[in-house]
Amino acid sequence: MKSFGYAAKSAASPLNLFQFERREPGPRDVQIDILYCGVCHSDVHTARDEWGGAVYPVVTGHEIVGRVTRVGAEVTRFKEGDLAGVGCMVDSCRHCINCDDGLEQYCDHGFTGTYNSPDKRSGGVTYGGYSTSIVVDDHFVLRMPEKLDPAAAAPLLCAGITTYSPLREWGVGKGHKVGVVGLGGLGHMGVKLAHAMGAHVVLFTTSPGKTQDALRLGADEVVVSRDEDAMAAHAGTFHFILNTVAAPHNLDPFLSLLRRDGTMTLVGAPAEPHPSPTVFNLIFKRRRLAGSLIGGIAETQEMLDFCAEHGIVSDIELIPIHQINEAWDRMVKSDVKYRFVIDMASLKDEVKSL
Ligand code: NAP
Ligand code: ZN
Ligand code: ZN
Repeated sequence: MKSFGYAAKSAASPLNLFQFERREPGPRDVQIDILYCGVCHSDVHTARDEWGGAVYPVVTGHEIVGRVTRVGAEVTRFKEGDLAGVGCMVDSCRHCINCDDGLEQYCDHGFTGTYNSPDKRSGGVTYGGYSTSIVVDDHFVLRMPEKLDPAAAAPLLCAGITTYSPLREWGVGKGHKVGVVGLGGLGHMGVKLAHAMGAHVVLFTTSPGKTQDALRLGADEVVVSRDEDAMAAHAGTFHFILNTVAAPHNLDPFLSLLRRDGTMTLVGAPAEPHPSPTVFNLIFKRRRLAGSLIGGIAETQEMLDFCAEHGIVSDIELIPIHQINEAWDRMVKSDVKYRFVIDMASLKDEVKSL
């Protein structure tokens, strides 16, 4: 099936129009006409080969919302016309202990990423959501709540679940003082979700100009992390800190803010490692440094339903696809308010004019 997307042909090249084939839907497949796709910093890390392993051409995009156009004979959960979502995964082994636990992201055999993963079905590589359509096994398709704006809900499929899952895993709720580090795509969802879970939320930023926005998004306090006195005023007081920063940085100033038994969980995935934190900063207060990867399919559905109940979506800048290269450059400079989302009608128009 003919499909069009925007692809990087090399680590240094901008994204350009690319034509490729999608498989015909099999009995358990759902075919989706893509309406919107969010722009995640992981798209940039992957296409510019900052993590290694890029297979070109790379078509990124794993915050996909669209309408179901066709379903296979064995699919019962979706029908033509449904609003559907696809996040970071399109397959996994389905029988290891982690898949059995509904934690497909930790599959012992490696999950199949929505893009730049070996595609078991085609023998090639997976192509993501900066494209006109996608075909996905129904287990990995999410039901999008119709009451949420579909463009603003797209980022929930990565930024939303990546912050929701650790907030739930570490039991964030009323009476907890929670820090969120970095106000980008993930960070602004972390602020909204932690606030909705009832926590006292403190946003740490390197961009003083984002202060008013952070308060509007649900932060109770904002700290400019380069201000040492402002940081010191919070020493030893946090139950939990979610660190979303996309660049290597010193973790010690944040670990010092945790109370006894407090945890800082890293979700940001910079290309170069963070400097190793001081061991004494951990052992003297039994502090924990942890990591977390997106979330399982069942938990992603739970998060979408939670967002529908609380009226939570992303704050987005909707762009036509030809502005994607500029959007990536702005995101890398921490200049996104607070997630770019591609309006895929712009790609369909471009294809029509060929
Ligand atoms: P983003 O929108 O670019 O946000 C990152 C934020 O980090 C920036 O807005 C900025 O916030 C802060 N920041 C950037 N450079 C910094 C620096 N040098 N020092 C301190 N702070 C800095 O990116 P995103 O899409 O939210 O993704 C964030 C990271 O999470 C990326 O590495 C991405 O690959 C990763 N990720 C991980 C998972 C997972 O499953 N673990 C899932 C998705 C994404 P301020 O301006 O407020 O300082
Ligand atoms: Zn992502
Ligand atoms: Zn598995």
